[in-house]
Amino acid sequence: MSHTNKIIVAIDGFSSTGKSTVAKQLASKLGYIYVDTGAMYRMVALYAFDQGCISPDTFDVEKLITLLPKITLNFVFNEKAGFAEAYLNGVNVESRIRTLEISNYVSRVSSISEVRSKLVDIQQKLGQDKGLVMDGRDIGTVVFPEAELKLFMNASAATRAQRRYDELLAKGESVTYEAILENVTSRDAQDTSRKDSPLVKAKDAIEIDNSDLTREAQFELIYDLALKAMQA
Ligand code: C5P
Repeated sequence: MSHTNKIIVAIDGFSSTGKSTVAKQLASKLGYIYVDTGAMYRMVALYAFDQGCISPDTFDVEKLITLLPKITLNFVFNEKAGFAEAYLNGVNVESRIRTLEISNYVSRVSSISEVRSKLVDIQQKLGQDKGLVMDGRDIGTVVFPEAELKLFMNASAATRAQRRYDELLAKGESVTYEAILENVTSRDAQDTSRKDSPLVKAKDAIEIDNSDLTREAQFELIYDLALKAMQA
C-alpha cells in the first residue's frame, strides 16, 4: 500500500508568472484547499483606496493601520466559475481587485509590516491542517518555511506582461501593453526591495522558468513534484 501524506505546497515568484493558474489546478487535482495570498493584499489595497488612504501620489499609512481591524477577508467558492472568489467585508470584490488601478497600489500597501502580520496570521491558520496550495511572494520563506514542497516561478518580463495584457483585454479593461509592462516591472522592483519579507527564492525552492513551457507541460512537472513530496 502506498502512503501519501497531506502536505503544504508553497508557490512563490514574480508577478504574472502563472502562479495562481497552476496552484488552482494542482489544488483541484489533489483535493486540496487553494489560497491566493495576492488577492488578500489586493483586498487591503482596495480597502485603502475606498477609504481614501491611497492615491497615485499620497498614502496615509497611519490611517490604514488604524483601520486594519475593520477588515474581514474571505474566499467563497463559486461553483460556476470553479474557484473561490474574494470577499472584502462580505462583498464580492473579485473583479475590482484585479484592475490595473489596484495593481498599481498593491505593492505600496504590501510593504507595510502591520498589513503583512495581519495577513500572515490568517494564512498560517488556513494551513494548520495542511492539504493546502498557497501562492504569493513569501510563502516558502515566511508563512510556511517548513512547507514540504516549495516552488519559485519565473518568466521573462515581456512574456509576463503579454499574459496579463491578454487577460485584462479579455475582461474588457482598456489598457495598453506598455502600462502593464510598467506595472509588472515596478511591482517586481518594489516586492524584491522592500524591508519586510522581500520576494526572494527560498534556498530549498525549486525554480521553474515557464517562458517556454506550455501550461500542460508545466502542470505535469509540478504535479509530479507534488506526488513525490507526498510520498517522502
Ligand atoms: O500575486 P499578485 O500579483 O496578485 O499579488 C499582488 C501583490 O501583492 C504583489 O505584487 C505583492 O506586492 C503583494 N503580495 C505580497 N505577498 C504575498 C502575495 C502578494 O507582498 N504573499
